[in-house]
Amino acid sequence: MQLSHIEHIGIAVKNLNDAISFYEKAFGLKCYNIEEVEEQKVKTAFFMVGQTKIELLESTDPEGPIGKFIEKKGEGIHHMAFAVKNLEEALAEVEQNGVTLIDKTPRKGAEGLDIAFLHPKSTFSVLTELCEDKNK
Ligand code: ZN
Repeated sequence: MQLSHIEHIGIAVKNLNDAISFYEKAFGLKCYNIEEVEEQKVKTAFFMVGQTKIELLESTDPEGPIGKFIEKKGEGIHHMAFAVKNLEEALAEVEQNGVTLIDKTPRKGAEGLDIAFLHPKSTFSVLTELCEDKNK
């Protein structure tokens, strides 16, 4: 397994448009993609910082994962995603290394990535995602 870089950092926000304006005004970044991921009940907005993205996440449903996160913890960093070359292999390897998986098999995330989450109870409470961009 080789982690090539931090692919993105996911930040839970209450209002996507307010957060987009903030990142554009405060840091001079440009939002290049807004996408809804229905399965995750979330609307996402992306910024590029070097080779790492900032992914803003607004819940479309209070019962969705981001809705529940914000209710419990408020806005803030929700997860961190590492890019890997082969997601299936990486998942098998981290599991062998004692990490508990949330997703045993890859699923589709925003921006056409294959993604899988690791359980925060085995990653020092940092919800960690592994992702592979098969279009690259
Ligand atoms: Zn993510």
